[in-house]
Formats: sequence, C-alpha cells, structure tokens
Amino acid sequence: MSRPRPRSDPARWPEPCGRCGEHHRLVVNWPDGRICGYCYQQAKRTRGICACGHEGVLPGRINNAPACRRCSGVRLNVDCRSCGAEDELYTGTHCWSCVLATTVDRLLTHPDTGIMHPALAPVAAALKSMKRANSGLTWINQPHVATFLSELAVAPAITHASLDQLPSSRTRDYVRGLLVEHGALPRRDELAARYRDWATQALTRVTDDHHRDVVQRYVRWHHQRRMNSMDTVTHGTFLRAKQAVTVAIEFLNWLHDRGIKLEQLEQAHLDSWQVEGPTTREIASRFLRWAITTRLVDPALTMTPHRRGTSPKLSASEQHTALRRIVNPDQLNPRDCAAAILVLVFAQQIEDVIRLTWDDVTVTDELVTVRLSDLTIALPPPLDQPWRQLAEQPSHDLTAAHPHSNWVFRGFSPGQPISADSLRNRLRGCSAPGRHDWAPCTNSPN
Ligand SMILES: [Zn+2]
Ligand SMILES: [Zn+2]
Ligand SMILES: [Zn+2]
Repeated sequence: MSRPRPRSDPARWPEPCGRCGEHHRLVVNWPDGRICGYCYQQAKRTRGICACGHEGVLPGRINNAPACRRCSGVRLNVDCRSCGAEDELYTGTHCWSCVLATTVDRLLTHPDTGIMHPALAPVAAALKSMKRANSGLTWINQPHVATFLSELAVAPAITHASLDQLPSSRTRDYVRGLLVEHGALPRRDELAARYRDWATQALTRVTDDHHRDVVQRYVRWHHQRRMNSMDTVTHGTFLRAKQAVTVAIEFLNWLHDRGIKLEQLEQAHLDSWQVEGPTTREIASRFLRWAITTRLVDPALTMTPHRRGTSPKLSASEQHTALRRIVNPDQLNPRDCAAAILVLVFAQQIEDVIRLTWDDVTVTDELVTVRLSDLTIALPPPLDQPWRQLAEQPSHDLTAAHPHSNWVFRGFSPGQPISADSLRNRLRGCSAPGRHDWAPCTNSPN
C-alpha cells in the first residue's frame, strides 16, 4: 500500500534520489545511490527472481533491474524470525503472514483452555492463507471482527445455532460461509435463516411487551415451523411470511394505540381495522386464524379476505351476525348500508364499490347479485334488503345533478360517483373504534 507521493521539493531537498530522481527526504545510502523514503518502501516490497536465480525480495538495482540483496549489496532486514521467509516485515521481526497467523490463532483459541475448537481449525487455516496478508491483518484487527472471532472461540459448540447467538454481522456471514465451505457446518436453508434474522429485528417494532410475546410465538410456532417442514424454503414463502408478520405487528400496534389487548378483541375492532385502512390490512386474517387456533381470541371473529374470482359465501350464522350489525330498518339509509354490506361484510375495495353502475346489479325476485371487477357477489336475504330498497328508488337523491347517470353511489359532482374518501368517511362513522356493537348508519341527507 504505497501512499501517493507529494510533489518533488528541490528547495527543501536539494539532492535528488538515486532512483526516481525526485527531491524528497533521502533515507538510506545504497550501492546504487542515496534513496528517498518512497523508493525505499517500494524496494522492500519488490519481489521476484533475481538474475542469479534467487527468488524473494529484490530491493537492489543492477542496470535498472531489480536484484537480490547478495547480488546488489543492499543491506536490508527482510528475514522473518518466525518462518525464515524473505518478505516485507510487519514489526521489524516477523512477516505479515506470520503476524496474521499469530493473530488468527490468538483470537480463535479459547483463552482458558489454550485449545482451539477442532471445527475452527479449517476457518483458521483459511484466514491465515489470505492472499494479501497485510489486508487480511487490517481486516482482522478491526474491533468488531476481532470481537466476533474471540466470541466464536469461546462458543460451547460450533453450530448454526451458536453462530446465530452471536450478533448479526457481515463477519458472521463470512465466517459461517467459511465453516460451510470447509465442511465444519452443514449447508442450511439461508432463506429460513434470513427469516429468523428479519423476525428478530421486526419484533423490536412491537410496542407492547405482551403483544411482542404473541408475535414471537406466531413467528416460531407458525411460520418457522412451516419453513422447517419444507425441503427448501421458496422465495414466495419467505415473502409471504414476512408480510403476514409485518401486518400482524401493525395490527397489534393499532390495537395497543386504542388500549386494546389482543384477548379483548371484538368484531367491531376488526371491522374498523379493515375499513379504516388499505386492503392489505386483510392480510391480518392469517394472523387471526392462528390466534383463533391457539385460543388467544374468540373463535367467532372473522375477517373476510378479499379474493378475486370467487364469490364469497357466508354461512347462515355469519349472515345473521352481519345483518344485526348492518341492517337496522328504523334508522337505515339504504345507500350507506348497501355500500357497507359490500365493504364491511364482503371486504370489497371502496375504490371498486364507488364505480358500480346499475348495469352491475341484478335484482330478481329470488336473488340480488352485484358484479365487482371479475367477482360476482350473491346477496342472500336479508343482506339484499337495502339493495332492493335502493333499486326501487335509485334516484331518491341528487336527481338534479344526475339526470342520466347510472352510478349506484352518486356523488356531489354532477355525473360523478361519490368519491372514495367520502364513502370511507361515511363508513367510518358506522364502525368507530372501540364500539362494541354495530352502530347503525344514520339517516343523514347525504
Ligand atoms: Zn526515489
Ligand atoms: Zn541475485
Ligand atoms: Zn514469517
């Protein structure tokens, strides 16, 4: 590693260097002339085969060609006291390779027993044989690397699990790679490992201690258990597992912000959670299923996942519950309740719902169906009620602004449907957080 040379300075150093001819401080008097500090450094590092056949450090110059010490008469200490090799010396006594080797052995040997774990021997050998011993030594002398290696040295066993116990770092990944390459550790599924690392970080985002404990169990006993049962963890599994836990954490933090513990979860909370945010919130249904299986929450709780291309069907008891929550004939605004049925019961996106036209709605004596994108939803009685009411008098509001429009949910702007934000606000009023029962839609004049 040669430092860039400063400018030649004849005023300060009148005599030029015998080799480079520039004016720097002269440090040594060799047979080919007085030599500057830069040429001296370079000479110590010049390696090759001398004209005499000697291979090693060639600090001298004969006819401008590098030459060995014996041929050139240059006196220079390049003999390592440890290995005897001719090389640039680190401390004036030992070559870089020997210092690197000593450092590796010192760090990887258990300080109490003086013995290196047999599994670490191949790692030590690999570290010692780094091509550029001086760069290797610079790397290994960094405090975080040295600390990691000394912690590894005292680990009770060299396993993936014991490496996982040490702080996550690139050094850990590198050393694990060495252990695997040298057969000291089996190759393992890195996606599963990355998932574990990711989850450890993600847990710090849970605001409530109890909820953090829940997420930890969810990760361990649902996602990691599934990954362990797979031959190879696919990228899809990895991403879905991350997404499920991310949304579960958001959901639990959302509950915590409202002073609700998971065990106190009620249907109204779930409905608010879904209606207040983006459709990705329905991903929390995966966590909900697990929470129900593990008896953390009431098994009657539901979130209707948004699945395109399938017609969601509700069981008789689910319909009954939905009805009680939404349809209150005394205080009913049919338009809001018709929307609420699609958004809250069938988990449809508000952005799709507002664009419904009467062409998408079929009302027969037996059945009401609503077509949303590629999904047709059948509304069994009594969920069809608000829709039938609305269909009978579709122009009960805003007729002036909509003389010809076919929108189901007409807006204030002439010829336009209601905006997503307006509808979201109206539905938000229907499911205020913390309410225990469905609050019926109020009969407001739009
Ligand atoms: Zn020079
Ligand atoms: Zn020679
Ligand atoms: Zn040496």
